[in-house]
Amino acid sequence: MFPMDMQSSILIEVWELLKAFVLEHAVSMTRRLEDQREADWRNLSTSETQVLAILASLDLDFSSAGDRRRARRLLASLAAEAEGELLVAEEDNTLVVESAKAEQLRKTLRWIAENPPQRFLSGVSGPRVAIREIYRGAPSLGQLHAHKWLIAMGYPCGRPDSLRRRWLVRMGLMELNNVAPASRVREETLATMERLAQAVQTPLAEVDLLLAAFTDASETDFRHSALCTRIPRCQLCPLRNHCAFFREGRQKDESQQRHLSKMMRKESQPRERLEEHGARALSNEELLAILLRTGSGGANVMDVATKLLKDAGGLEGIARMTIGELSAQKGIGRVKAITIKAALELARRRDTTPSTERQPLTSSKTIYRYVASRYEGKTEEEFEVIPLDVKLRPINTINISRGTITQTLVHPREAFKQAIRESAHSVIFVHNHPTGDPAPSREDFIITRRLVQAGEVLGIRVLDHMIIGKGCYYSFSDEGKLES
Ligand code: SF4
Repeated sequence: MFPMDMQSSILIEVWELLKAFVLEHAVSMTRRLEDQREADWRNLSTSETQVLAILASLDLDFSSAGDRRRARRLLASLAAEAEGELLVAEEDNTLVVESAKAEQLRKTLRWIAENPPQRFLSGVSGPRVAIREIYRGAPSLGQLHAHKWLIAMGYPCGRPDSLRRRWLVRMGLMELNNVAPASRVREETLATMERLAQAVQTPLAEVDLLLAAFTDASETDFRHSALCTRIPRCQLCPLRNHCAFFREGRQKDESQQRHLSKMMRKESQPRERLEEHGARALSNEELLAILLRTGSGGANVMDVATKLLKDAGGLEGIARMTIGELSAQKGIGRVKAITIKAALELARRRDTTPSTERQPLTSSKTIYRYVASRYEGKTEEEFEVIPLDVKLRPINTINISRGTITQTLVHPREAFKQAIRESAHSVIFVHNHPTGDPAPSREDFIITRRLVQAGEVLGIRVLDHMIIGKGCYYSFSDEGKLES
C-alpha cells in the first residue's frame, strides 16, 4: 500500500498518461526505453556512473588503441564532472588517473574491474544488497551513484534522488519527510518506486527512466519535455487532476483569491459609504482612499490613505507637497500623485468659483471667492463688472478693459452699458493688481468715485469695487470708501 491512498486503477491511469506524454514529447524516449529493456547500457549517455560502467565493460583492457581512446574520452568526461580534480594521462598503454580523490577512484576502478557487472550481479540478492556492496567496494560512487551504476548496467533499480522523490510526494504517493536521515528517505523513495513499478507492471528501470524524463530537465536529454521540475508546468500536465500538489496549489490560489476579494471589498467600502451617506459622511482618509482606488504591497487602500495623511500632516500638508514628493510616499505612484493634485486643485477652484446655483454676493468674501480664480496668474490689469439681480446674484461677468487702468480706459458709459442691458439691480466692479498688492492707487479712488456717481444717476447701485491682489483683496465697501 502507498502511504497516501491512490487506487491502483487510478495509478495505472496516471502512469499511462505520464508515459504517453513522455513518449510523445521526448523524441528519443522510445529508443531509450528499448535500450533499457535490452539492458544495453553502453547506449546510455555518459554520466559519471555510465562512464565507470563502460570502463568496467572494457575490463580495463587497454591493449587496443581504439578502446584506450574511448576510455580516455570517457575519463575526460569524468574529469569534467570532477571539476578538474582529475588528471588523466596515457603512459605506456596505461591510463594514469591523478587527483585529490585519485586513491578512491583507483580503488573504484579496480573494484569495477574485478567485479564485472554480470559476475557481480549474479552474486547479489537484490538492489539494496547490491547498493551496499557497491558502496563498500567503490567508495567514490556514493549511494546515488551506486544506483546510477546499477541502472547503467540495466539492473532493475530505481534512482531514489530528489527529483523522483519530489514527483512521488507531489502526486501524494509518499509523505514529505524533512527530518528523517537522508539514507532513510532514499530507502522510502526507492521502496515507493518499487511499489509503483509493481502496481503499473513496468520494470523499475523503465519507471526510473520515464520519471527522469518527466521530472528532470537537467539530467536527461528531455529538457523540453520535462514538466514536473522545480517549478512545475502544471498547466500543461496531463496528471493534474490526480495531483495532490496541484490541488493544494489551487486551494492556495483560491485562498489568495479570497484574500484579494476581501481587500477589494475593503477598498470599495468608502465608495459604497459615499453612495449611501453622501461625501460629507466620509472622513478625509476615506475620501483620499477613493482617489487612490487601490492599495499597494499588501497594504489596503485605507492604510495607504491613513499613512499619507499622517506623514503629510493632514490635507494642508498634502496640498503643499509636489508630485515628486507625493510619488515618493509608499503606495503612491506618479499616477496617484497626479490624481491627488488634480482633486486638490478642483477643490481649490471650487472655493473660488461660483456654483451653478449662483450664490448671492453679499459680502466681500463671497465676491472674492467668486472672482479670485479668474485673476490668478494674470500679468496685466483687467477691469470687470458683475451685474447682479434683485437677490444680489451675479448675472454674468463682463470685461470692460485690459491694460493699465486709467480714468479714460474705464469709462462709466462702458461700465454700465452691459449692466443696463442685463437690467441689473446693482453692480460690483472688480479689477486686479498684478503686482500682488491690492492697495488702491489714487487713480483707483478717482475711478471708484466716478462709477458710484454714475450708478446713482442711472439708478444702479454700486455695491463694491474690489481690487484683487495675490491671495488677498481690497474692498472699497469694507473700507467705507464707496462715496460719491
Ligand atoms: S500537476 Fe504539476 S506538480 Fe502535479 S505532476 Fe503535473 S507538473 Fe507535477
